Amino acid sequence: MRMMPIASGSSGNCIYVGTDNTHILLDAGISRKRIDEGLHMAGLSIKDIDAIFVTHEHIDHIKGLGVISRKDGIPVYSTPGTISGIADNTTLGSIPEGILNEIQADEDIVYGDICIHPFRISHDANEPVAYTMTMSKADGFKKASVVTDLGYFDDYVVDNLRESDIMLVEANHDINMLQVGPYPFYLKKRILGQKGHLSNESSGKLINSLLHDNLKKIYLGHLSKENNYDKLAYETVRLEIDMGDNSFKSSDFDIEVAKRDILSGICEI
Ligand SMILES: [Zn+2]
Ligand SMILES: [Zn+2]
Repeated sequence: MRMMPIASGSSGNCIYVGTDNTHILLDAGISRKRIDEGLHMAGLSIKDIDAIFVTHEHIDHIKGLGVISRKDGIPVYSTPGTISGIADNTTLGSIPEGILNEIQADEDIVYGDICIHPFRISHDANEPVAYTMTMSKADGFKKASVVTDLGYFDDYVVDNLRESDIMLVEANHDINMLQVGPYPFYLKKRILGQKGHLSNESSGKLINSLLHDNLKKIYLGHLSKENNYDKLAYETVRLEIDMGDNSFKSSDFDIEVAKRDILSGICEI
């Protein structure tokens, strides 16, 4: 099983997860062209993609869906609330009949050899979810998780992410940078609120509760362009792990900030 972030950040999100037989995108918040270019770097093309699973209807997660649905006819799956949000977004143009499919949070959907599990997250969208993907292999299950766009996490979120072999976790902003930065007050309040985004510090705390011996890779994702930068996100998360109540050191793990506009390293489990 492989994960490759094609783009991650407030300006557009698209993560590839696949096996030899099944190829999935989580979100399509950048252009079809950029997604296809990204996939080419991994020896794939958009024609290989079997399905797109969408987290929520914000434009940084769905921007490419209109063109892809008309050109490639790839089926799109999400919760009923997100599907209606996509259908209502006139900037995407018309989406052909039969492309949009409803799935329910907390219910598994098997696609080829991947089992996809949507679970609820707290964010200011109709019915947002994050996803875990598992595949059974000779030496046991492999699990890849992507969780971004959430204001806070609770035991339900932690339980869903447990035992991931790879994960991409939101590290959206530095609280201090956001507070003193140029954003208007209402936007600061929104980002810091229960339905906003995870700060670097909260991201570190969430990751801290998910560490285990077989965790192969941690991507930090959905960084804000104005209120964060790579090194700060990276160092803050490392510090949380080092100071956290666990038996690990941050140097035990491969941590990488997923790139905003270009392909990040591919990770195989
Ligand atoms: Zn969002
Ligand atoms: Zn977003």
